Formats: sequence, structure tokens, C-alpha cells
Amino acid sequence: MIRENLKEVEERILAACRRSGRPRESVKLIAVSKTKPAGMIREAYDCGQRLFGENHAQEIVEKKPVLPADTVWHFIGNLQKNKVKYLVGQVALIHSVNSESLAAEIEKRAQKAGIVQDILLEVNIASEESKQGAAPDEIRALLRFCEAQPHIRVCGLMAVAPFSDDPEDSRPFFSDLRRMLYELKHEVQEPERFCELSMGMSGDFETAIEEGATLIRVGTAIFGSRMPI
Ligand SMILES: *Cc1c(COP(=O)(O)O)cnc(C)c1O
Repeated sequence: MIRENLKEVEERILAACRRSGRPRESVKLIAVSKTKPAGMIREAYDCGQRLFGENHAQEIVEKKPVLPADTVWHFIGNLQKNKVKYLVGQVALIHSVNSESLAAEIEKRAQKAGIVQDILLEVNIASEESKQGAAPDEIRALLRFCEAQPHIRVCGLMAVAPFSDDPEDSRPFFSDLRRMLYELKHEVQEPERFCELSMGMSGDFETAIEEGATLIRVGTAIFGSRMPI
């Protein structure tokens, strides 16, 4: 099942890239494996998938040691400060930095580990009450704060569009996020590194690719629906 699903997702990615005149290599597929057992991740790994996304620190701690060393992990969920120590240096990218206090904790832990941690800033792009992410008008200040931290590298922006059955509903939010990235590019020390747009999930990843996504986060379409935990 996972093999077929990955193949179908890949075909849809290719078609969306073709439609929007983008090279396939400009989009990375994150297989969101949250709540799924390591055996299923291994199945995807054996199909060639290397990049996985999780939203609980505990799951990464448990799954990482049982998967091959070249598996790449991204943290995509709401991050509590007391969990930062489990992730810094363990994940290639933290997508969900939404406050100065969280960034300060990542800085502290990264400094201790002697590394630079790559992160994205999560934007509450539709200013939804129920959503994580910094408000759009707070992002500039948060970026400035992070840019001043020597052990953090901000690589771009992340957002989750409001829930909808129609992927077209996500389009204006995705294009807002892209515009925000371009506007902020000239305010960072390494503009060529501030280039990642993490947006698009199972329901709207093709729209996200058309709007410039460089990282798409796809769970259900690869692993099937999740049991509530
Ligand atoms: C769970 C999750 C996804 C994947 O959602 P699907 O609809 O299953 O593809 C993507 N992004 C975030 C932040 C998530 O928490």
C-alpha cells in the first residue's frame, strides 16, 4: 500500500511541477509519519523515501534509533520548550518556531551542543484562533531576534492553511506566505539560505507546489488515515 501511495504522490508532484514550470528537485517530499509505527516508516524507506516528519519529540526519540542512519527527520509540530533538548542536533529542520522564548531555548541547546540548528518560522497565515504560529505582523521581529542568535539559522517560513475540502481555498494563503518570504529575504544575513517554503499537506500539496512550496508535508496520502491518539 505504501509503495503504491508513494508512487501516486510522486506522480502528482511531478504533474504539479510540470504545470508550474518547476524542476522536480525544487520540491522535497516530507513523509509525515506521526502516530505510525517504525515498520511503516521502514517500508517507505525501502521505497527510497528518506525524509520524514514528526510532531512529537517522543516519537522521534523512539523511532530514530531503529531506522537507518541516513534517514532525515524534520520536526513539524507544536514544540514545547522542555522538549527542545530532545530535538536540537537530532532533526535536520525544526519547522515550527513561533516565539522568541522558543528560539532562545533552541539557541541555548544548540550552543551547548556546539552546532547551528536549522529552523523555519511558523506563520499563523490566516490569523486563526485555533492555530499555532506567530501572527504575520510579528514575524519580522521574530526573524530579527533569530538572526541575532549565532546557533540558529532561519531557512524560511512554514504555514498550515485553514482546513477546507477544496485545495483552491488554500491558494491565497500559500501565495501570501511566498510573498512574505520574498519581502523578508533582504533582511537576513544569508538571503540565498532563506529560501524554504514549507506548505501543503495531503489535501492541498499540488496547490502549494504551484504557489512555490519547497517542502510539502504529506501524511495521510502516503500512510493512510491516522487513529486518534
Ligand atoms: C499531520 C500534519 C501534516 C500531514 O497532514 P496530512 O493531511 O495527513 O497530509 C502536515 N503538516 C503538519 C504540521 C501536520 O501536523
